[in-house]
This record gives sequence, C-alpha cells and structure tokens, in this order.
Amino acid sequence: MTAITNYFKSLILVELFRGLVLTGKYFFRKKITVQYPEEKTPMSPRFRGLHAQRRYPNGEERCIACKLCEAVCPALAITIDLEERDDGTRRTTRYDIDLTKCIFCGFCEESCPVDAIVETRHFEYHGENRDDLYMTKEKLLAVGDKMEKQIAADRAADAPFR
Ligand code: SF4
Ligand code: SF4
Repeated sequence: MTAITNYFKSLILVELFRGLVLTGKYFFRKKITVQYPEEKTPMSPRFRGLHAQRRYPNGEERCIACKLCEAVCPALAITIDLEERDDGTRRTTRYDIDLTKCIFCGFCEESCPVDAIVETRHFEYHGENRDDLYMTKEKLLAVGDKMEKQIAADRAADAPFR
C-alpha cells in the first residue's frame, strides 16, 4: 500500500511542490546570508584564529617559558626550548606551533599566566606548503606586534568573564 501511495505521490510531484512552497516561504524573508568577503559576520572577542605572541609595552616579550601551554596542548602542536638569562628570568629560545596539528581548542591561551600566547581574530590566512603553517617564535611575535591593539581590546572586553 505504501509503495502505491509513494508511486502516486511521485507521479503528481508532491515532493517537488512541497519544496517549492518552502522556497517560496523564505523568498521574501530577510536574508541571513552575507556576501563574503565583502561582508563579514560579527565576531566574538574570544574568536580562536591565528596564534600570536605578545610583548609588554616596553618591547619585552611576555612569555616566561613556563611551558604550561606546551603541557596542556592536546594536539602536541607546541614545542618550546628555553634558557635562563643572566638576571635569572627565563625566556624561550624556540617557540613553535605546528598549525597542521593544532585543533584551535584555545587551551594554550587559557593556561598562559601572563597572556603571552593568544589566538587572534585573524582567520584569512593560508599555506601553500607545510612550512607556511609552521609558526615560529619570530612569526608569532610578528603577528602579535601587528595585531596588539585588537588583541588588547579583545582581552579587555573579555576580562569580566574570565
Ligand atoms: S589551540 Fe589547542 S591545539 Fe592549538 S596550539 Fe593551542 S592548545 Fe594546542
Ligand atoms: S606562552 Fe604562556 S604558558 Fe606558554 S610558555 Fe610562555 S608564559 Fe608559559
């Protein structure tokens, strides 16, 4: 019986008309799609895009080489080497993030006690080979230098919720 009903429905194009009714219902509604890349959707200050390493206003890098981010990273994407300076402070000699491993979970920035490693709003990047997606300390600091104003504003906006 079901087979006969289905055959009859397909013969008079019931599903097609149902689809057209649904399309018609949305035709005159306010459009929710945007014309990317000319138009952008709103973005949270917590957006987890490309990583950056931050500096203090005097130019000193924030990272104190505590290795918490390396320990917490579930993808084992972070590699850190460090040295102790003459004044007894610790700084990284190597800080790499392999973006081909990273799952953008945000654990690294959550764990950082000095807000050194952060994820920025920048997501429009690409790599043509694996090296392009291997973020060295120099690359991370360069992103941080370029985006510091936005990063600081986002951290301030998010501070009450942390
Ligand atoms: S976002 Fe997550 S996966 Fe990526 S480097 Fe940070 S902790 Fe590791
Ligand atoms: S980025 Fe933050 S958590 Fe990672 S080693 Fe540096 S200070 Fe520690």
